[in-house]
Amino acid sequence: MCGIFGVFGHKEAAKLTYFGLYALQHRGQESAGMAVSDGREVREYRALGLVPDVFNEEILSRLPGHIAVGHVRYSTTGSTTVKNAQPFCVTHGGCTLALAHNGNLVNAYEIRRELESQGSIFQTTMDSEVIVHLLAKASRKGIVEAIREAMGIIRGAYSVILLLPDKLIAFRDPYGFRPLCLGMVNGGYVVASETCALDLIQAQYLRDIEPGEILVIDENGLSSYKGMESARRAHCIFEFIYFARPDSYIFGENVYAFRKHLGEGLARENPLEVDFVMPFPDSGNYAAIGYAQATGLPFEMGVIRNHYVGRTFIQPSAGMRDFSVRVKLNPVKEILRGKKVAVVDDSLVRGTTSRTRVKAIREAGAHEIYMLISCPPIRHPCFYGIDFPTPGELIAAKHSVEEIRRYLELDGLYYLSLEGLISAAGGEGDKFCLACFTGEYPVPVERGFRKDILEKGE
Ligand code: 5GP
Ligand code: MG
Repeated sequence: MCGIFGVFGHKEAAKLTYFGLYALQHRGQESAGMAVSDGREVREYRALGLVPDVFNEEILSRLPGHIAVGHVRYSTTGSTTVKNAQPFCVTHGGCTLALAHNGNLVNAYEIRRELESQGSIFQTTMDSEVIVHLLAKASRKGIVEAIREAMGIIRGAYSVILLLPDKLIAFRDPYGFRPLCLGMVNGGYVVASETCALDLIQAQYLRDIEPGEILVIDENGLSSYKGMESARRAHCIFEFIYFARPDSYIFGENVYAFRKHLGEGLARENPLEVDFVMPFPDSGNYAAIGYAQATGLPFEMGVIRNHYVGRTFIQPSAGMRDFSVRVKLNPVKEILRGKKVAVVDDSLVRGTTSRTRVKAIREAGAHEIYMLISCPPIRHPCFYGIDFPTPGELIAAKHSVEEIRRYLELDGLYYLSLEGLISAAGGEGDKFCLACFTGEYPVPVERGFRKDILEKGE
């Protein structure tokens, strides 16, 4: 997963991009970067870390210009090094190009091998780099035609923002796996993964970049081109379930409202008689609210989240088990003691953190613990950019719901059904990619494809 943001036609493009990336920080915490153009020269800055740690006033002042593209990275393909931080910049035939990509290509390895056999030299282990090489190869034909040609070769999920010295171009795979929207601010244009980035800079939302569209933004305004057609859409349902920010609108809908519908679906399918409903915060909050409102049960915050837990902190010496889970969420004994509780969370992936959390609320005095998950069992890996582990690590790939219930030491475990999920999506299941639940992959994945395959090729 990643977050991307672009600006055209604003004199403080770097600062706007900084704010945009700040609002998209939930989409990636590993590295941040931006490339800025003043119309002729492109300057870039990238580093490992969170947006406010990577950039400061001084660095931003060294990035003058009115066009910018930025990226926050959550690695799915390629390892954690600053070399793999985006935007990815190259100069080819005297023209500099910077690219920010969200999504995962399923045939990057094959394309890379082919390009290497023709003499291309790769600088990183990112799947995104193949897009740049394909664009460079076809650049004689003009950038729109080059993108169109590249779109005919790459397969999988891509929402891309491309910066050239005098323009910004956004394009999106024909299935629309990952979100991408367009906004306007002070006569300039912005492109962002999610609308929460537009809100922060007080930009007006105009529309989504269409699946398969190539949108050029330059001195002449907006020019839209057909890049590639597809018979269907495959928006990632997990963006709604977990990944996107609840204040965002993606794929034409508000994420918070969607998650509440998931909770209402859980209430229809599994009304429980308990003392109260509580979420595992923050991801479980919105479905828990939906569940509580639909059942009329009281809503409590039975565990409190520490919001300041970074990626790395000093581990205690031996003897403090499950520290990294407990440091993030702490149960409120006063609320839990002697109670029968329904805990709502957005998803179960490996089951390991949930097991520890359930144990913690049991130790805090909860008497009976029922868990409700606002999506169906995740049985299949994602090849389009969500960082799910291999099938071997996905708890629902190998175990029945009853086995998972026992492993989590719960009194009851209830998942939202696939029908319930589709109903929350307004009945339009065919608009979404549901592969992690159904195993039906909208874009075929090459046999033997592994998300770390590019690493192996290093
Ligand atoms: P588990 O019990 O499977 O170890 O962890 C479940 C928790 O992981 C849930 O609270 C869910 O919000 C969270 N989760 C789901 N998907 C992701 C993801 O892609 N990345 C991270 N960091 N957490 C996730
Ligand atoms: Mg969570």
